[in-house]
Amino acid sequence: MMLENSKYLFDRAQKFIPGGVNSPARAFKSVGGTPVFFDKAKGSILTDVDGKDYIDYVGSWGPMILGHAYEPVIKAVQETAAHSTSFGAPTEIEVEMAELVKRMVPGVDKIRMVNSGTEACMSAIRVARGYTGRDKIIKFEGNYHGHGDSFLIKAGSGALTLGSPSSPGVTKGTAKDTLVADYNDLHSVKELLNTHKDEVAAIIVEPVAGNMGCIPPAPGFLNGLRDLCDAHDTVLIFDEVMTGFRVAKGGAQERYGVTTDLVTYGKIIGAGLPVGAFGGKKAVMDVVSPVGPVYQAGTLSGNPLAMAAGFALLSELQDKPVHYDQLEEKTTYLFNGLKKVFDKWDVPVHINRVGSMISVFFTDEEVVNYQTANTTDKELFRDFFHEMLQRGIYLPPSPFESWFLANSLTQDMIDKTVAAADKSIEAALES
Ligand code: PMP
Repeated sequence: MMLENSKYLFDRAQKFIPGGVNSPARAFKSVGGTPVFFDKAKGSILTDVDGKDYIDYVGSWGPMILGHAYEPVIKAVQETAAHSTSFGAPTEIEVEMAELVKRMVPGVDKIRMVNSGTEACMSAIRVARGYTGRDKIIKFEGNYHGHGDSFLIKAGSGALTLGSPSSPGVTKGTAKDTLVADYNDLHSVKELLNTHKDEVAAIIVEPVAGNMGCIPPAPGFLNGLRDLCDAHDTVLIFDEVMTGFRVAKGGAQERYGVTTDLVTYGKIIGAGLPVGAFGGKKAVMDVVSPVGPVYQAGTLSGNPLAMAAGFALLSELQDKPVHYDQLEEKTTYLFNGLKKVFDKWDVPVHINRVGSMISVFFTDEEVVNYQTANTTDKELFRDFFHEMLQRGIYLPPSPFESWFLANSLTQDMIDKTVAAADKSIEAALES
């Protein structure tokens, strides 16, 4: 495969950037080989620095729900940039953005903008701790909430892919306040809440897990968490950094009919610019500085470029809910095509899908949590991934990530993807 310019750039990058990348999930560590360096993209087509095109199933890990270089977003960024890139003072677009989120997610009374999903999750647990006066949190094995110290205990995503789910550098003091339960297992949550009575400030959960591959919540799981939080005066936090504005206009809260106390956002909310946000019930959010005593701040938070981009994308999603129906149809079409191909080759497979999030697990087992996700055949995924890449299909470079579909995908592109999967799995099985 022609990857000369990517190879050249990767050699240069490795000299001065750890591992040659600014975020480990893009490093191709678990699949091996050279990460593809990209030059440009339009809709669902990526073009690398060697001029080769790919159909994109990463979508910048979520934000590109309507495709790359989406005209209204580009226009909003260009027009806003001409007026200044930052004031460090309030602007009208921040007000409009907060009002728009409120319209899309009725349970969010107040929202604070930050610069990444990590910041959103770090801030949300500080708020929950300040609100309840308790120290401990419960998270789930294989869920990822960014690289804040409290979350790098049995974490998912790059931390899982790179074999470092519990990171060195997190102090014992911090680690002891993070309790870990099993995803989709209410019993494990109950046990922790009973053992640590009146000590748990928050339960934080990916309402659809995406960072150990896509794993839907079992029926009753999210409602069960809501009930347990009510019974224990614990704050329920949905980390909707992946699912927000994706699995439905109002995210997982809408899709599963569960209202949380706090919610965190990232990715789509900034349309590909660095944005995150946390929000929720007024009573909880009112502990945030300057109304309340819980300090949280950011020089570039609510940045005009990021707000303009996010507002343009969210407005389109708010005005045309048909995008969600189309994404659902396209993802089902891909699901059916892939299932047929893997069945034809007699490959043990479970394909999980929620809305436009989908993952292929090469395993006989139904994938419902970290343990079952881990039964996927990693070598087969690695070979399949490279075969697909060679055929111009860009998948997440790890068996433990969700694929994100964009509504810019056409039926023809999905047909090409399924045809490539047919050839790729044949070749992967032979190698
Ligand atoms: N939470 C979830 C569910 C995520 O998927 C991610 C990132 N993949 C984060 C938090 C962290 O977001 P960021 O990378 O923007 O810091």
